[in-house]
Amino acid sequence: MPSPRNALKALGLAPSRKRGQNFLRDPLLAQRLAQKTLALGNRSIVEIGPGLGALTRPLLDARAEVYAVELDRGLAEALKTWPEAETGELKVINQDILKLNLSQLGQTPFTVVGNLPYNLSTPILFWFLAQTPLAQAGVFMLQKEMAERLLAQPGQDSYGRLSVALSLWAEVKQILAAPPEAFQPKPKVHSAVVSLIPQKAPEVSLKALGHLTKAAFHARRKTLANNLFPVYGREKSLAALAQLAVDPGLRAETLAPKVFAEMAKLLVPDPDANQLSKSDG
Ligand code: SAM
Repeated sequence: MPSPRNALKALGLAPSRKRGQNFLRDPLLAQRLAQKTLALGNRSIVEIGPGLGALTRPLLDARAEVYAVELDRGLAEALKTWPEAETGELKVINQDILKLNLSQLGQTPFTVVGNLPYNLSTPILFWFLAQTPLAQAGVFMLQKEMAERLLAQPGQDSYGRLSVALSLWAEVKQILAAPPEAFQPKPKVHSAVVSLIPQKAPEVSLKALGHLTKAAFHARRKTLANNLFPVYGREKSLAALAQLAVDPGLRAETLAPKVFAEMAKLLVPDPDANQLSKSDG
């Protein structure tokens, strides 16, 4: 494949930092990413941010049906000229992925894949969880530190809100790693690919869990008591902690995801409380 720099130049485009445009320049890595994606079972693939099509190409060559959701109009228009867009194997959707509901594309199960714009990784991961059961599997290229947060266990430095939510809703595995040189323009960070297989959701809403973990991890060095009292009140917080036999003097980072799920059933946010926002993690 031509280098991303040359391919962009030929289209009269320049990489946009704002849109997280670090294009895959390593065809072997793109090929492996496509294989790992298709190994999860579905032939219907939703690709987030196909860009110049580095990953779209091996997916199509392996006879997948690809819904390519690209926000950048110039890139989307270029993809629409591919022969597979004529024949229908490639459907190019020029839209913000966060505004798309998978049911608009059909009722067949999808695998979602993307070398994500890193500034939108958290909202895209929560978007993905909200798309189950149509979203059956996900494969995401993320900043390495972000992948570590998804995979972190209680007690580890990277353990936080994202680790709790993702591990309750999905089975998360790291499947590939990529150095900065695999991309153009070259990012400052290392990258990792994780697979997410949604599991049976816990009996608590993502919103209630997000509200609780936002409070509990608010100041990481503070105790649960100090973090929860200002949000839920002393009495309600102590009652919930006592019911779950959790010491109020512990820090949030020591509690297992399942304990947070149980606690979120007891500590319910106000109906008009904020949802998870893109900066939350
Ligand atoms: N998949 C290509 C690759 O690996 O070379 C490009 C990956 S690049 C890291 C991220 C892509 O996501 C860019 O093409 C960018 O325009 C697109 N993008 C950014 N924000 C988006 C959004 N909200 N919805 C859909 N695509 C988006």
